[in-house]
Amino acid sequence: MKIIELKETITASNDRDAEVLRSELKEQKTLLVNLMASPGAGKTTLLERTIQDLGSKYRIAVMEADVDSDVDAKRIEMMGAKAVQAHTGGMCHMDAGMTRRALEELNAPESDLVVLENVGNLICPAEFDTGAGKNVMLLSVPEGDDKPLKYPLMFTTSDALLITKIDVLPYFDFDAEKCIERAKKLNPRIKVFLVSSKTGEGMEAWESWLSDAIDSWKQ
Ligand code: MG
Ligand code: ZN
Repeated sequence: MKIIELKETITASNDRDAEVLRSELKEQKTLLVNLMASPGAGKTTLLERTIQDLGSKYRIAVMEADVDSDVDAKRIEMMGAKAVQAHTGGMCHMDAGMTRRALEELNAPESDLVVLENVGNLICPAEFDTGAGKNVMLLSVPEGDDKPLKYPLMFTTSDALLITKIDVLPYFDFDAEKCIERAKKLNPRIKVFLVSSKTGEGMEAWESWLSDAIDSWKQ
């Protein structure tokens, strides 16, 4: 597994770079999913399970973006998917230029799905378009149901919200209905899935949404 060192790309318009990248990926029939969440929300664990379930149907590659370490990329490789570890040089998000660079390393056109596991935080990853076809965010039960109120942009820019770690719902004061209501108020078209990567609950619905997204990206 390769580790690449990235630097923030300084260009006039990240939005325009992202648009160009998105249309190239569309032509290559490779869906890029930008996965965003706080540290510890369960992104890598969700990916491990998703790769296990969909890996025989689709060619899946993952780029792990972190300030340091390569533990997540190693876990992904253990599942048999192609992975690259991108170090962001201290940056707390990925921009379109950095994403392009990591995609080159993965040889993106060889994959049906590339997942960008963005740097863990709920703030600036939402501000930088990476060129992804779909933005997906995770919110884990221990983080609390008030997060839509505190980080509205993340919920506004996401196509799907996965409420993760639902196996611990009995131990936390997390009102799922209230959380969904808050998210939908910010973004009426957001798709919400309640999942546990541990027990497998809710994984089917998420994976069927993802499969549909991969299939329709090719059309
Ligand atoms: Mg991770
Ligand atoms: Zn940042």
